[in-house]
Amino acid sequence: MSYENILDIQDPKLKDYECGICLGICQRPVRLSCCLQIYCYDCIKESLDIKSTCCICRRSNTIDDIIDNKIIQESIDMIPIKCNNYKDKCKYTGTMKEVVNHMLTCEFRIISCDLCLHSYIANNMNKHQTTTCINRKMECKYCKIFIQRNLIDKHLELDCLKISFECKNDCKFKGFREDIKLHDLVCPNKIVEEPTSKKNKLVKYTDVDLINSQVKQNPNCVWKYNNYHGGINSIGTIIKYSHTKYWVYVKWENNYTNTYSIGDMNNYDLIYN
Ligand SMILES: [Zn+2]
Ligand SMILES: [Zn+2]
Ligand SMILES: [Zn+2]
Ligand SMILES: [Zn+2]
Ligand SMILES: [Zn+2]
Ligand SMILES: [Zn+2]
Repeated sequence: MSYENILDIQDPKLKDYECGICLGICQRPVRLSCCLQIYCYDCIKESLDIKSTCCICRRSNTIDDIIDNKIIQESIDMIPIKCNNYKDKCKYTGTMKEVVNHMLTCEFRIISCDLCLHSYIANNMNKHQTTTCINRKMECKYCKIFIQRNLIDKHLELDCLKISFECKNDCKFKGFREDIKLHDLVCPNKIVEEPTSKKNKLVKYTDVDLINSQVKQNPNCVWKYNNYHGGINSIGTIIKYSHTKYWVYVKWENNYTNTYSIGDMNNYDLIYN
């Protein structure tokens, strides 16, 4: 750990807490069995991985020779320091041990907003979440329910039960979303659309309600057994599908029955009557 946060950097005792490798105040101070030199646990472990000697006395050591130095740890814990967030204006000071605890709740610590996942200083979070967070919750002015800001348009468009609408049929009826749905069933001005006639359109495998439809020969198709079905004006009824959905069975007025293409290889044998 660097000296940055230490309040009294002139304190001569600090020299006793210095790591023999990084020259900062030891973090988790340890020593080897060879001499009294102290190191940060991480520093000496990394060093022994490369070369199995003490960096100061040069005697050979292994990971197993690392000994925790509890007494030094206790002294280091008592060094007065500033909160790590002092650059962000935190004024808190205390012993190293106290500051570690303080940092968990320091109002200048960086935390992430649980609505948008961006990071902010803790004491700005409340303001952020109520004023600038893109996902902040807002009250719907119609139904008074709180909804994330980015979902409010969808709420108004599809869900809000307390917006009133005017009937689109210009009958002057006004009501909430649910009322309008019910009204629509009985609106006096409702324009009932005629079902579009299928007459003379090609019979296609994508059509619905094929069974029992009345059909005729597609005049653009020349059939091999041209007149068995009674000729171009004869009317038939689709009675079932063939085993593929591109063909249907048609029974004609003269009781002749055959299969006809309704899209197989792009052939359309039939039109609706
Ligand atoms: Zn170190
Ligand atoms: Zn040594
Ligand atoms: Zn602080
Ligand atoms: Zn946010
Ligand atoms: Zn609403
Ligand atoms: Zn209406």
